[in-house]
Amino acid sequence: MQDQNPKKVYHPLDSVEDVEEFYQSIRREKLTHKLAPERPYCYWTIETYDKSNGIRGGGGLGVLAADMRRVAEQLQVPFVLVTPFYPWESHQRMENMEQIDYHTEKRYQDYGFNFVDTVNVKTATGAVALDVIEKRLGSSRFLCVTEPNFGELYSGESGSDHRLYQEVSLGFGGYKALKLVGCRPGIIQLNEVATFFAAVARLDELVSSGMDFYEAVVYTRKHTLYTNHTLVQAAEATFHYDQFERYVFPNIKSVSVKRWLSDKFTDGMIRLSTPTVEIAELRSGVSKLHARVANYHDINGNKIKFKSITNGIHMRTWTLPEIMDYYHTHGILDKFDLPTIRGFEENIEKITADDIRHLKNLGREKLNEILAHRTDQYGNPVFIPRDAMLFDFKRRFVDYKRPWLPFTDSNELARILQNHNAHYILAGRVHMGDTTMFGKLMDLLHLIDQNPILKERVHYLPDYDEELGLALSLGANSSINTPIVGLEACGTSWMKDIANMGILISTHDGGVADKPADSYLTVDGKNEAQEVKELYRQMEVAANAWQNDFDLEYWIHKELTAYLDVISGTRMMRDYLNYLF
Ligand SMILES: *Cc1c(COP(=O)(O)O)cnc(C)c1O
Repeated sequence: MQDQNPKKVYHPLDSVEDVEEFYQSIRREKLTHKLAPERPYCYWTIETYDKSNGIRGGGGLGVLAADMRRVAEQLQVPFVLVTPFYPWESHQRMENMEQIDYHTEKRYQDYGFNFVDTVNVKTATGAVALDVIEKRLGSSRFLCVTEPNFGELYSGESGSDHRLYQEVSLGFGGYKALKLVGCRPGIIQLNEVATFFAAVARLDELVSSGMDFYEAVVYTRKHTLYTNHTLVQAAEATFHYDQFERYVFPNIKSVSVKRWLSDKFTDGMIRLSTPTVEIAELRSGVSKLHARVANYHDINGNKIKFKSITNGIHMRTWTLPEIMDYYHTHGILDKFDLPTIRGFEENIEKITADDIRHLKNLGREKLNEILAHRTDQYGNPVFIPRDAMLFDFKRRFVDYKRPWLPFTDSNELARILQNHNAHYILAGRVHMGDTTMFGKLMDLLHLIDQNPILKERVHYLPDYDEELGLALSLGANSSINTPIVGLEACGTSWMKDIANMGILISTHDGGVADKPADSYLTVDGKNEAQEVKELYRQMEVAANAWQNDFDLEYWIHKELTAYLDVISGTRMMRDYLNYLF
């Protein structure tokens, strides 16, 4: 975001004293002794969502990785993000109300990456040379592996040879890349099991350099954190033993490490979570609810315990600069972007409806600027008038998130939108190959097309990405988040909405459920029909609140008081550092 305000908006942590103060607020003992530029926090992820650095993700997992790096950079934590640079990425556009997928080629040279050297990973048929590229940003850096045939994110089936090849390249290749730039990991965080081979590479290095196998396992376990985002182990991909023989074992030097890994197969098949929980003593889930309900078992059938560390967002990336400035100058956030220790609740109480409306109008302008170069289902740009109420639903089009829920009774939806001079923006993307959701989206677009009120007031925006995610958080008055309860691990788009003073309408799930259900407009019910009724009722509550100063202040105060701490990426980093050290 461009800051047009000449006065200094941000308070960057550019002095060493500030950083020491942050570290000391975590623990009295200084973390700078545990993490250093040559011994950094190493974060492994198959997906990163950071468009300005040329890497497009698929969803929340990638946004989280990008935000972790941004928070580390802001707080001057020595941090390496190890991730692939995909030479291809997928996009969507609409043709005759049908989603068309297309692909664009990416060159890392165009995004300020430097070539370091190449590293080899082995397959049964020979070696593949991977380019190691890096880009430094403050105390953080991107360290990426790539080659022309690396393909795109999540290409092929989840248990396919190509996915395994990508995962092996990221793990073994990424570990070699780390050595190449002179680092050894202070800590390894595995963002989901696709990164498991990084821990194997470390174990193998220790053992083949002479450490006793069991000592090496203990050492690796102590310094590896596995972060789980998936609820059910059964949903995870499986690989065959022969795939491991071709792609994995050739990259392992130590016979005992090979034997250890072979023992993790049952009936010739393996799920990567099985060895991952053995090699990572530290394990976390991404919200309180998720850490409690994630149903994972180790190889002996014992239930795995996950520490809950709720996702946060990098607030300066996802919040209107004028709102960040407001939080800083009104004693709501401190210079680390944590809620101020003294007075943050009282200071939230002082936010007036005029302030909220003024800031939201600025956000609306920003939204319209971005909408001007995007198109709706008919290929036209969208403009939302300043005096119109705007609801939004922006997320991946997957079934459990229920994008179709508000359209259950299309006449009722039309009535609400018309009565409140409201518009509704739906932004999403159907994953390639998800024929169910592809069909549901088409049905939805035809339903909208056939109802003149919906046709005027509901806008579908394809190719959902960070730009749209941000724009809608800035400019919408109320956002709708209705996953089937129990299926959302955390979700972060609702955090962007609250940070930007929108009214959240949500089911009590994921990170939303970290706080009591009366902190926002809850959608609940014994069955889906009841939930739909509640949803429509809450849409009216939200629309009325934007017409009534007292109610508007009530809901914005309530949300910010409850969630500002949860939302803060600094809080997330503090929680990780506290857990790790
Ligand atoms: C914030 C964001 C997400 C995260 O979405 P959730 O559905 O809340 O997990 C995904 N994709 C994009 C483009 C985002 O900006």
